[in-house]
Amino acid sequence: MPGKNLSRDEAQQRASILTVDGYRVRLDVTSAPEPAAATFRSTTTIAFRCAEPGASTFVDLLAPAVRAVTLNGRALDPAAAYDGARVHVDGLAAENVLTVEADCAYSRTGEGLHRFTDPADGETYLYTHYEPADARRVFATFEQPDLKAPFTFTVTAPAAWDVRSNAPHESVTTEDAARTWEFAPTKAISTYLTAVVAGPYHVARDHYSRTLDDGTVLDIPLSAMCRRSLAPYFDADEILGVTKLGLDFFHERFAYPYPFGKYDQAFVPEYNIGAMENPGCVTFREEFVFRSKVTDAAYEGRANVVLHEMAHMWFGDLVTMRWWDDLWLKESFADFMGSYGLVGAGTRYQSAWVTFANQRKAWAYRQDQFPTTHPITADIRDLEDAKLNFDGITYAKGASVLKQLVAYAGAEAFFEGARRYFQRHAFGNTELADLLDILEETSGRDLKSWAAAWLQTAGVNTLTPQLTADAEGRITELAVLQDGGVLRPHRIAVGLYDRDADGALVRTARFELDVTGARTTVAEAVGLTRPALVLLNDDDLTYCKIRFDEESLETLRTGLGDIQDDLARALAWSALWNLTRDALMPARDYVALVLRFAGQEANIGVLQSLHTQAKGAVDLYADPAWRGEGGRLLADGALHELRAAAPGSDHQLAWARFLAQTANGSEHLGLVRGLLAGTARIDGLEVDQELRWALWLALAAAGQAGEEELAGELAADNTAGGRRQYTQSLAARPTPEAKAAAWSAVIDSDELPNALVEANIAGFAVPAHRDLTALYAAPYFKLLERVWAERTIEIAMRIVGGFFPQSQVDEATLAEADGWLAGHPQAAPALRRLVLERRDDLARALRAQACDRA
Ligand SMILES: [Zn+2]
Repeated sequence: MPGKNLSRDEAQQRASILTVDGYRVRLDVTSAPEPAAATFRSTTTIAFRCAEPGASTFVDLLAPAVRAVTLNGRALDPAAAYDGARVHVDGLAAENVLTVEADCAYSRTGEGLHRFTDPADGETYLYTHYEPADARRVFATFEQPDLKAPFTFTVTAPAAWDVRSNAPHESVTTEDAARTWEFAPTKAISTYLTAVVAGPYHVARDHYSRTLDDGTVLDIPLSAMCRRSLAPYFDADEILGVTKLGLDFFHERFAYPYPFGKYDQAFVPEYNIGAMENPGCVTFREEFVFRSKVTDAAYEGRANVVLHEMAHMWFGDLVTMRWWDDLWLKESFADFMGSYGLVGAGTRYQSAWVTFANQRKAWAYRQDQFPTTHPITADIRDLEDAKLNFDGITYAKGASVLKQLVAYAGAEAFFEGARRYFQRHAFGNTELADLLDILEETSGRDLKSWAAAWLQTAGVNTLTPQLTADAEGRITELAVLQDGGVLRPHRIAVGLYDRDADGALVRTARFELDVTGARTTVAEAVGLTRPALVLLNDDDLTYCKIRFDEESLETLRTGLGDIQDDLARALAWSALWNLTRDALMPARDYVALVLRFAGQEANIGVLQSLHTQAKGAVDLYADPAWRGEGGRLLADGALHELRAAAPGSDHQLAWARFLAQTANGSEHLGLVRGLLAGTARIDGLEVDQELRWALWLALAAAGQAGEEELAGELAADNTAGGRRQYTQSLAARPTPEAKAAAWSAVIDSDELPNALVEANIAGFAVPAHRDLTALYAAPYFKLLERVWAERTIEIAMRIVGGFFPQSQVDEATLAEADGWLAGHPQAAPALRRLVLERRDDLARALRAQACDRA
């Protein structure tokens, strides 16, 4: 079978001769509830023009069988025309009609038309997910973003089902046990943005209306959907409330009426990513429907995603990148708008920029220091490249750089630019230059050199303060040193902090300036009293790593928790974590800071990332000789803070979960078992279903819960979520048999759905079980190429990333990784990229351990 890849050159060639006038797609999914039915019927008719009559082209299709192909009334032999990935057609006319009838496969990997059967009630649910190129698993398509066209879908489904697509339905007819839904034609959109959601979904309805500037009223029917068995937990009002605030806000800022009619938001099972911006039919991972108590950070995260996807209706759906090189044109904007919108639209999540600074940026810093990092505007040769570029650069660094652009060019110029961009390129495709031209118009600034520095180079700069003072403690000079690859222009704020009368650390001065080149002085600081803390990049305007002078670092060691401002404190935490990752601060020092100050941390999102980082510091960055003690300290700290936290608070829940992640001694594990059995309780802590699973996982990983007990919990929670947790807990048991079973379930068969692949890998890879999993390092490297060739890219990425021997932090494993890389120069570039990144994580952990030992 030929490759499933598609190159940029091929896409350019195809776009140079073709114009697509429209698709009619008929799907018959009446067989979906029968487990034995592997396929559904798909019939696609494409009307398109060709600028070079007589030329040849191909349509993309990944289907088990093609039944018929007709071009301009002429039947082609499917066996000759279809090669397993493409239907080849030649002798094109100026105007063409192509019909392809195929049997397409129901998916279990979240790619294409995913089928899920709910263990709770036996109901079947379907939804599609395509980005970047999986529409071809459902219908025949010119699978590239710049061949936009209107799509008309017709879906025949079981009669009891609800069916949604991008456009509203125009008619529904019932025949026997089936109903056929005819949808209105969509606006001209890209193939990867089309969608179908079908099943007995629970639907909450609402609507939004707004009087536009010309006096007309825009009415947008809204809905929010989830599986029926999740309906009791579905807080649709909260979701739809954020939706309406967002629609108000984006209409105001973008001044372009929402172009896609209605707005459905479906929360779907076994979803690979957070959400997808299908116009008028957004899909979300259903873990955003909270079955148990979660902290406010989870609500904020969900609201952020709601606004991110909504921003895409303009950035991405109305105006779309020409090819995946400019993926950032939509993802960086949407990522920026998620946080910007949470604050600006008046949601209750006013600390969105704190979360962004502390969590989103950590993703960017990590990615940007891999040897595989790339400029924000990337060089995407083909679809495999594209798949790997949904990364910390395209999203988080891109959004950070847009935040910097707003500081540099001004918010008004930025939004006026956005408005002109939508007007000028509506329903079209764009590249970097199209946006820059407009931003230059609105800002009156030359952005070419800015874009060259920020968008077309890779890597993160480090800013370090250099402060000198006289004998009286007055600043004689404050300079900002910049290093790290290409030096960039940074618009930054510098904050000086001192203790107030109550001992709190508060900002006493703020200077905003342009940092350029290797050394920039802060003239206004001269003559001021030397402060307790100098915070570069205060207010988080730019994208950089920051360091501290020795005196500031000492202030943080003794008083980090006294910083009053949430954002300043989050920036300090972030900088300390970067010092740890960069082997400039021993892991045990970072752990000590967390143990000392996390109990004071007011921001729940920051607290939860401190938990993750402190655990990571002990597991990977600490000297192995200290690891045991570090682990005990974390568990003791968790227990102490759990008992001290306000009853029923988010903080209490976060500490309970952290206790479950760190529990190792008999005292901690005894409490875990007591909480499960109901013989122990913590005032105000409700041991609900998700917390129960977290506690079971702790016992399983410690070898204190067997298959029978776990099966008992599953019997009490026989749901999709329960099955995932049960699977992970089984794989997390510290026995050779449990590890072998998890490995085999993932590697030896492709029957497992994506969600259970993920659960097995997560359970297998418990860091504390590194002695048990060490045996799998050699087989892992042997399997890589086979996995890459045989599995879908989504599953292959999980296996390659998840089974890498990450917790074997030693020179031998590093050498094994290097050996594989040296021996496989011809392996798929995307596969090499994944291995290179994991290898880099390992090398970083080795450096951090050396620092911690010293
Ligand atoms: Zn997005």
